[in-house]
Amino acid sequence: MSKQACGRAVDCPICHIAYFIEGVANRDRICYRKGAWKLLCICGHQIVFNKQSLLWCAASAMSFQRGYAPYTEWETSQPFNELYHSIFSKGYVFSRI
Ligand SMILES: [Zn+2]
Repeated sequence: MSKQACGRAVDCPICHIAYFIEGVANRDRICYRKGAWKLLCICGHQIVFNKQSLLWCAASAMSFQRGYAPYTEWETSQPFNELYHSIFSKGYVFSRI
């Protein structure tokens, strides 16, 4: 499958669906409570995450638009992760969700 879109995502440790945290698609799934970001996965697992646990994920534009991609439809790559660390080291904050 071609990978046409890329964004920061949270990976469910149980079913390995990746949820893209930017945009509005997962707004109802994500909440910030008691100092931690939480995301409720389709499988029922509640994922606790922070900006260090985000991955840069590439997926199809369709997956990106619906806000998540099943395990077989996304991949992450080291250059993107390095880019991510360099973005945060320059003082950008986790403010878009
Ligand atoms: Zn899950």
